[in-house]
Amino acid sequence: MTASTSTARHDQPAGRQHTADRPISLTATGGIDRASHHRLDEAWLAAAWSHPTTRVFVVSGGQALIEDKEDGTTELVMMPSFDAPFTEAHRYFLGVDEDGVRYFALQKDSLPGRLDDIARPAGLREAGVLLSDRDSELLVHAVGLENWQRTHRFCSRCGERTVIAAAGHVRRCPACGAEHYPRTDPAVIMLVTDDQDRALLGRQVHWPEGRFSTLAGFVEPGESLEAAVRREVAEEAGVSVGPVSYVGSQPWPFPSSLMLGFMARATSPAIQVDGEEIEEARWFSREDLRAAIESGEVLPPSGISIAARLVEHWYGEPLPHPHRS
Ligand SMILES: [Zn+2]
Repeated sequence: MTASTSTARHDQPAGRQHTADRPISLTATGGIDRASHHRLDEAWLAAAWSHPTTRVFVVSGGQALIEDKEDGTTELVMMPSFDAPFTEAHRYFLGVDEDGVRYFALQKDSLPGRLDDIARPAGLREAGVLLSDRDSELLVHAVGLENWQRTHRFCSRCGERTVIAAAGHVRRCPACGAEHYPRTDPAVIMLVTDDQDRALLGRQVHWPEGRFSTLAGFVEPGESLEAAVRREVAEEAGVSVGPVSYVGSQPWPFPSSLMLGFMARATSPAIQVDGEEIEEARWFSREDLRAAIESGEVLPPSGISIAARLVEHWYGEPLPHPHRS
């Protein structure tokens, strides 16, 4: 793949040092202590559930109800447990905040109806950019658990139906005794730069016209993250990569990924796309990218994605908005 495999060689980019002292915030958390030691304590869970300050929300098909407040913020719609449509079998304990408030999610086949019409269903892609860090953290945890629960109903060892345990964080097999834990699939996502500090962005075949973003792919069994970065960039864009440095991570429960973000340095900039996953890849200078976004030729990654944060990390500031005429 590439002859230069030394990650110890942290060459400094030859171009402007836009990002040298600018922290990248991908791991912001909302102050929830998952308090995992309580998950097996049924008496504690029962008391926590019935406590008057406990807050509960329903998750269904990756969505929850959110509500725009008068002050311009958006919140998860939560209720006290005595108002919640209780199903013990699908109750997830999510944790405790700084004030001692306990949070649960209930997985249901549908979201509860509301008399007031103010609340609306939203998935993480929408809610993630609107909600507070606390509410985002709660929702991403609940959606991740729901995705895993939904697809792991049967024991992968003996085929029996499994039952939920540990407040939603384990599935147990009553036949063979196996315990199954939620899966997280590591995926690497990387912004590759060349010796002129240009960024390599690609277009996936199925993306809307003009969309360019970072390259990404799943880590394979027995592979290091650095090797996965180099393999994916070589496979998708034909570019050889040398130094690789970790930037930050983002849970991406669509359905169960953890995106691990890297900056990577090309050792040979010639591009040869695979044509299957990536149909086009280009090197962009900051000026190229600004002009292409402003003219509407390029749609950069946006929203909650780590791809947008990686591109901004390189770009040095928030990306410009396209001029609409
Ligand atoms: Zn089993």
